[in-house]
Amino acid sequence: MSRWQSGDFDRERISDFFHPFTPAHAADSLEQVDLQRLWDRGKRLILLDVDNTLVEWKGENFAPAVVEWLEKAKGMGFTLCILSNTRRVERLMRITQLLGVETVRGRFKPSRAMYRLALIKFHKKPEEAIMIGDQMMTDILGANRAGIDAIWVRKMASKEFGPTRINRFIEGLLTGPIYKSLITPLDEHGNAAEVTKPLRERSVYHQFVKFAIVGATSFAVDLAIKFFLIRYVHAGNQLLSEQVGHTLRTDFPGLFSFARDDQGAAAPILGFIASLFAMFNSFVWNRLWTFEVRGKEERLKQMKRFYAVSLVGLVINNVVFTLFFNIIPGHRGVSLAVANALGAVVAAAWNFYGSRRYAFKQ
Ligand SMILES: [Mg+2]
Repeated sequence: MSRWQSGDFDRERISDFFHPFTPAHAADSLEQVDLQRLWDRGKRLILLDVDNTLVEWKGENFAPAVVEWLEKAKGMGFTLCILSNTRRVERLMRITQLLGVETVRGRFKPSRAMYRLALIKFHKKPEEAIMIGDQMMTDILGANRAGIDAIWVRKMASKEFGPTRINRFIEGLLTGPIYKSLITPLDEHGNAAEVTKPLRERSVYHQFVKFAIVGATSFAVDLAIKFFLIRYVHAGNQLLSEQVGHTLRTDFPGLFSFARDDQGAAAPILGFIASLFAMFNSFVWNRLWTFEVRGKEERLKQMKRFYAVSLVGLVINNVVFTLFFNIIPGHRGVSLAVANALGAVVAAAWNFYGSRRYAFKQ
């Protein structure tokens, strides 16, 4: 599990996938939660988890600091309500009596049920409520699902309910990415550090590695579709490529004189179609993975731009290839291979630059 960190989170900085698990804030303990700040933000209803948030698992001995914090909250006018997944109802009732707080019972977190019941019971809107709990998979997820902001507190003790360990394991997998959205780490006095972390670092090197991997998948897509179109697809009893090639050679004998046979004449046309599919593959993965573009609004515009960049890349590839194939002396096979590699490298550099600075520019 990642090292514990406290502060405010800005979920816009991370993928939508993690949003339901991302708290608004993380605090080292309940007492570290700034009540005035909550009040100033319009919060009036504080929803509280019990185990490892207010008290150790199964425990009923509340730390003076916890009681003090709860009393302060009550004094300020907050409504306090416990949302617990505990099955030990008698203990829960003793606790609510002891602390003088409310509770509701309903389907367990991360179900929205208890959150909604609490909102109804106290006539509050979701934006007036705040959930405080130690578990991402129950307290935080349930709150977010109910449209309520959540504060994640560091769990009190390592002793926990057995199945909770599964939740903790998943939590451990999630915290790394989620910490990337931490914007204001707090110092030991609970004050926000003045430096705000920059938006997720978009390292060019990492992007290029991803871009190259996507390029390799597109190469495979291109090859597979070429095979499919040239060697597999039939129109009637004959291969499509032979029919197309035959027509081309009959209609434009000069233009297709390079072709060894009908399939060879169809190759540039069907090959181009395959390239368009491969470009689509590149577009999708580069958009989502390499450049991590979020939102759907600009998708079509980005696709047009990406295709423009890629088509220019295709031309560059061929021009560079042809140029060096004619320049490089010696064995034709060697010059072909070298010229081909040079064309691919120059085109890849162009495509990467064009994708980064133009197609997916944010
Ligand atoms: Mg708990």
